[in-house]
Amino acid sequence: MRPVAAAMPNLLDYDLAGLAAWFAGLGEKPFRARQVMRWIHREGCDDFEAMTDVAKSLRAKLGERAEIRSPVLLRDAVSSDGTRKWLFDVGGANAVETVFIPASGRGTLCVSSQAGCALDCAFCATGKQGFNRNLDAGEIVGQLWLANRLLGAVPGAEDGGRVVDNVVLMGMGEPLANFDNVVTALRVMLDDHAYGLSRRRVTVSTAGVTPAIDRLRDECPVALAVSLHAPDDALRDRLVPINRKYPLRGLMAACRRYLERAPRDFVTFEYVMIDGVNDGDDHARALVALTRDVSCKFNLIPFNAFPHAGLACSPVERIRRFAGILLDSGIIVTTRRTRGDDVAAACGQLAGQVRDRTRRTRMRPLQTMEET
Ligand code: SAH
Repeated sequence: MRPVAAAMPNLLDYDLAGLAAWFAGLGEKPFRARQVMRWIHREGCDDFEAMTDVAKSLRAKLGERAEIRSPVLLRDAVSSDGTRKWLFDVGGANAVETVFIPASGRGTLCVSSQAGCALDCAFCATGKQGFNRNLDAGEIVGQLWLANRLLGAVPGAEDGGRVVDNVVLMGMGEPLANFDNVVTALRVMLDDHAYGLSRRRVTVSTAGVTPAIDRLRDECPVALAVSLHAPDDALRDRLVPINRKYPLRGLMAACRRYLERAPRDFVTFEYVMIDGVNDGDDHARALVALTRDVSCKFNLIPFNAFPHAGLACSPVERIRRFAGILLDSGIIVTTRRTRGDDVAAACGQLAGQVRDRTRRTRMRPLQTMEET
């Protein structure tokens, strides 16, 4: 059999240290890595020949040995509230989604870390798709790279230019189950030679992979959000099955340890409000007790429905009362405003995959949630 030619390295996969090591392999100095890093991420450049302050001979060498392979855009949907959802091809008939939530002149980018997800939380559309694969670092940071181009934030772009100043890893997948690639991508997001984002404005959201919370604290502390969704193990085991492996007691302890090095002095607990399941007064009171020793804020997320979910969102009045109990105990609470649900871009609705897993041998045409 003919050997398959190895793909050329994708320079989007490297953080600065990785890029410098790769340049050293070519016999080039570290400042070349910095230069190229800036071209790629600050200028949004994917053409070595356009890197005018890089020596012509080096440009040619780079062109022969490497690529800047950005994600392939399959679809661009704009919600009536301005939220944009992009569908990216990740090969093998799979796609992932990225959501941009604008605020005046800037905005938040919600980035995916895996194609599909293995955790299978009871209320999440992505989990229903099963797990396909981890995204490469370049596919993760590539979502930001392409968003900046599409939003006109790079020099020379046409429309006015919006800047992504907030990144949340709250798209498809469990970021801490793809630890190394996520950390490499985070380093690029934070690097002054690339996006220069503040640690406080880059958030990793996890369903609670407890040992990886410690690793993140040691290797790349950024803002942390934990998807809590239940105040006790019995209920959380059902809603967030990874709780069976990493129960609440250990999770709370990991949150406390994280705070020793976190860029913010609180952990955000996300809590999806599901009618009649986890939204009672007693649940709220139990949450107050559970989180007593953790400096935290709560973000209540009205459950976003998707086909065959079999769950409903708590009524507005219930959410208000639930929030009131937390507030009365001194906890800061926000209730997330649902954005972009007319293009299925809201939390838990991301299901960009195009493969029909129930009939693996046949492919369906490109399909996303809004069509099902
Ligand atoms: N795996 C990570 C990040 C992805 S989900 C995590 O669990 O944190 C981002 C947030 O959306 C999580 O808090 C998740 O619990 C929430 N979410 C998932 N499905 C939802 C739904 N249908 N409605 C509202 N929020 C949902």
